[in-house]
Amino acid sequence: MNTILITGCCGFIGSHLCDFYLSKNYKVIGLDNLLTGSIENIKHHENNPLFNFIEHDVCDQINISDKIDFILHFASTASPDDYLKYPIKTLQIGSIGTENILKLGVKNNSTVLVASTSEIYGDPLEHPQSESYFGNVNPIGPRGVYDEAKRYLEALTMAYKNKKQLKIRIVRIFNTYGPRMRVNDGRAIPNFINQILNNKNITVYGDGHQTRSFCYVSDTVNGIHKLLNSDYQYPINIGNNDEYTILQLVNIMKNIVNKNIELIFSKLPENDPKKRQPNIKLAKTILDWNPKTSLKDGLIKTIDYFIKLNKFG
Ligand code: UDP
Repeated sequence: MNTILITGCCGFIGSHLCDFYLSKNYKVIGLDNLLTGSIENIKHHENNPLFNFIEHDVCDQINISDKIDFILHFASTASPDDYLKYPIKTLQIGSIGTENILKLGVKNNSTVLVASTSEIYGDPLEHPQSESYFGNVNPIGPRGVYDEAKRYLEALTMAYKNKKQLKIRIVRIFNTYGPRMRVNDGRAIPNFINQILNNKNITVYGDGHQTRSFCYVSDTVNGIHKLLNSDYQYPINIGNNDEYTILQLVNIMKNIVNKNIELIFSKLPENDPKKRQPNIKLAKTILDWNPKTSLKDGLIKTIDYFIKLNKFG
């Protein structure tokens, strides 16, 4: 039986990874310090003998005696609101936390997959963004703490591959959405759903013409699994390449719930990327991976989840 360690197991993507690997009968060890993750996200596994949750901060030394075959390093703050709130911790998780994980990987001869991000491309001057693009990041801007933490994570991971022969995988995750995002996470999709369901005005930052490409979480998880199973040891983009402006996103949501809600426009946050779309040629050819869920279908499932949370009366 394979044992997999998942850091950030109580977070949005981390908890879906737990579901996925438990459904495949892996022994899953989940690590989380509950800074931004929620124990509710893994509660349904509490009596599963294959699952072991350890409340622990990856920045502190990790002592696990079990033999670990695979590590998925997903611990991090991830929403712009969170990394503005915890700038130093965000940098520490990407640096000290990542090194602790890589050392554990060396000790166990594990395959270590680290979660990187489209944010390493910054406010990109190349469009769509392919893995060979070096990015346009402001290191001292408000998003710099996250962007540079993840750039360091990639550099450190490559150094462990080259100097310690660690088996590594690096996934650059583009905007992902779905059930278990936090209602108050601050990101566009949960914010808009929250506002629509509560009949509040929708907060659009800037003129709403900035773009993003949104991937449904089951597609992202599938891509991560395919990458783990491959032998590709360089960064690879995982994301949906259907690109929408924020105004288009709002309209699709309004049509799903059949409500006409007012928009209020406010200032675009500093260094907010104007465009984002992954080039996924590598994932298609190397991993035979393609996102399958349309934005409309994924939003229907996500909105349904938020309604069932029963927080909206
Ligand atoms: N955004 C917005 N209203 C909100 C939240 C976000 O207009 O209430 C915009 C944000 O400025 C950005 C885009 O939506 O241009 C996506 O933001 P998000 O926080 O989801 O993630 P990002 O891709 O910026 O990390």
